[in-house]
Amino acid sequence: MAKLINKTRILYFVSLIVFTGTVLTSTVAAQDLVQFDFKVKPTINNTCITNNASVNSDPNKPPEGQTSAITQIGNVANGCSTKIVPGKLNLKFNFSGLDNKEQDLIKQSFDSVAVSPQAIQIYTDAYNNNGGVLTITKDGLNKPFAQVVGSCGNAYILIHAGLYLGSSLVSTQYVIIHEFGHIMRSCNGTLSQAYINSGAYQAEGLVVTYPLSAWFDIYPDCASALAAKGENESFAEMIADYVTYKTYAMPSTRICTNFPAGATYSDYPTRQPLFYNFVKNNIFGGVEF
Ligand SMILES: [Zn+2]
Repeated sequence: MAKLINKTRILYFVSLIVFTGTVLTSTVAAQDLVQFDFKVKPTINNTCITNNASVNSDPNKPPEGQTSAITQIGNVANGCSTKIVPGKLNLKFNFSGLDNKEQDLIKQSFDSVAVSPQAIQIYTDAYNNNGGVLTITKDGLNKPFAQVVGSCGNAYILIHAGLYLGSSLVSTQYVIIHEFGHIMRSCNGTLSQAYINSGAYQAEGLVVTYPLSAWFDIYPDCASALAAKGENESFAEMIADYVTYKTYAMPSTRICTNFPAGATYSDYPTRQPLFYNFVKNNIFGGVEF
């Protein structure tokens, strides 16, 4: 028997490619299981439908919780679970030193993470808290790395000349989503604390695709680099891998984890499940790539 604690207002949205709108508003008791039935037009078949739900305890305030689910109607090649919900992040960029192809792939990389209301919110919040314009610049250093300079409020992404982003979308996603992950963490203390509380790094160690040897000019070996950088780099890397793990072939062997060159991280969800599920539930609203 559910105990009535307060009244919770439920807003439920449905998007059917051809239609988006509020279809039901009702008030229910807390802890109630709420079920809604939707009728889909008979002309809609062989497609994926995304339902987005948000929950407000006070209709005059932003939602306390959001989620989304994908339903398959009829036959869809490869099923719906791997389908990415189309979305866009409304970001302004300040590019310097990057060619047009690199700029396009960076924009596509950001749009590719807009797969759920939660993801759009969390990326937009970090972007806004960092000043509302994202600077991405390239210097002349011939090293194949990128990094974040500064912290939330004035952070920017610096790409060294030895790293060409314009070779493919997935390699750009891997770099850009990782680097923006650092900005996201510095701009979102709640998310950062949730990551610490999850215990993922303590239980599962360094995210295995991270090239820790990039720090060997400062830290002499894997152990010291791990102690200094492992926890924070795993935060950024777990997000980049979440988006790219099925398709991005790592260009070099990861010296400190022996993750092989040329491999994708196809077993990420089972090999480092605490990391994978943290990203799934805390950043992407349950949507998987
Ligand atoms: Zn990093």
